[in-house]
Amino acid sequence: MQVLIVGLGPAGSACALALAKSGVDVLAVDRAYFPRDKICGDALTGEALAYLTRHNVPSRIIQRSFGEIRKPCFQELTPTLAEAGGQRLIGMGLRSQNASFHTIRRIDLDNWLVECCAKADCPMEFGWQVQSLHRVSSSDPWTVQGTIRSQNGELQGQFQINAEVVVGCDGVSSVIQHLSRDQRSARPIALASRRYCKNDEHQVEDEAISLMDHQWALNPSYAWQFSVTGGTNAGIYWCHHRNIPRISGRDLLALTQQHAPRGDAIKTWGIPVLTEEPLAHAPSGILLTGDAASLVDPLIGHGIDRAIYSGELAGQILAQGFQTGSNVETITRTYESKLEIRRRGWQQHIQQLENALQGMDNTADQLSKALLRAVWTRSSPKP
Ligand SMILES: Cc1cc2nc3c(=O)[nH]c(=O)nc-3n(C[C@H](O)[C@H](O)[C@H](O)COP(=O)(O)OP(=O)(O)OC[C@H]3O[C@@H](n4cnc5c(N)ncnc54)[C@H](O)[C@@H]3O)c2cc1C
Repeated sequence: MQVLIVGLGPAGSACALALAKSGVDVLAVDRAYFPRDKICGDALTGEALAYLTRHNVPSRIIQRSFGEIRKPCFQELTPTLAEAGGQRLIGMGLRSQNASFHTIRRIDLDNWLVECCAKADCPMEFGWQVQSLHRVSSSDPWTVQGTIRSQNGELQGQFQINAEVVVGCDGVSSVIQHLSRDQRSARPIALASRRYCKNDEHQVEDEAISLMDHQWALNPSYAWQFSVTGGTNAGIYWCHHRNIPRISGRDLLALTQQHAPRGDAIKTWGIPVLTEEPLAHAPSGILLTGDAASLVDPLIGHGIDRAIYSGELAGQILAQGFQTGSNVETITRTYESKLEIRRRGWQQHIQQLENALQGMDNTADQLSKALLRAVWTRSSPKP
């Protein structure tokens, strides 16, 4: 076999779709059966939405709402200033004028993407969990082994596949990443939580709001409450950036309980965030994509778009590479260098965002200090 794709989240599906009908001998496997849930905020960036629209995503699985960002320092703004920026000022929140915030429940998104792969005749296997990866020498194909389980978790057998290229699309705890690198380079993992809550019967979806609440001073972490089809997705993204103190899973659960007191069980999950460090070189024949390549924005937690981008890029480079007779080493380095260019662009964007956020925080900080001084002066005994 030429290509084995491990994982069929957004990265794996985008890779499989880019390879469909290319003539490359490919198989995609996932340890899960679909539809399956993935803990996520379900928010789509414009880029992710553009990809989905290109592939004719059904509008019934997408929810549109008004986006609102709440920050204590916004209390300094006046309605006129907010309107000049194309927003409405609602208390300490800036709300978009249009319902331009898009979400899609991951159970729907990932299932629909897998259905697209099936329609494009991509060979896929479910219940297949990769457990080991090795090769005799660098000129040999990779041997990938694992277990096959039924939908109710019963062990049904083992599989072994030889593949010239293995695409690691297997998420935050990527086995392909762990097994293919000599040194396990420590990757920063941010923590986030999610709780779904069903809509009240009388709730009007036309007025749905998706809120990001930056409630911690000098800390870009935020709590969210996003409108999704049939309810809300609430959670907390604890920023893993600069000197923000880490949070334990237990404390995050407690904070989430306060933020979203009712709904389904609260779940937490790791987010492998993008850093300034370039990605370590993978061995020839290993392409890492999406969360397996730590591409998530450390400030706003967006990763679906990056998973799609890197998965599609890997698929396109593999299709072109095998069709033109390139060797596996060239294919690997072409993918790495193209992804690195994009990674640097994302890094610059994070820097700009960080500067903007810090600017707002500094203003808020100065304001609160000034207020404290005023209160202190008023309450101090007169000489
Ligand atoms: C709480 C939370 C909120 C988030 N909110 C947002 C958001 O609002 N917007 C956004 O854009 N991003 C968000 N993200 C990030 C986003 O969820 C990820 O970046 C995205 O899912 C990455 O996609 P992926 O395809 O790389 O991996 P995944 O979606 O994790 O898919 C990996 C797939 O690999 C399979 N797999 C894993 N191991 C194996 C194995 N050994 N063998 C076979 N199969 C395997 C899994 O079953 C899974 O189907 C959030 C993340 C978290 C944790």
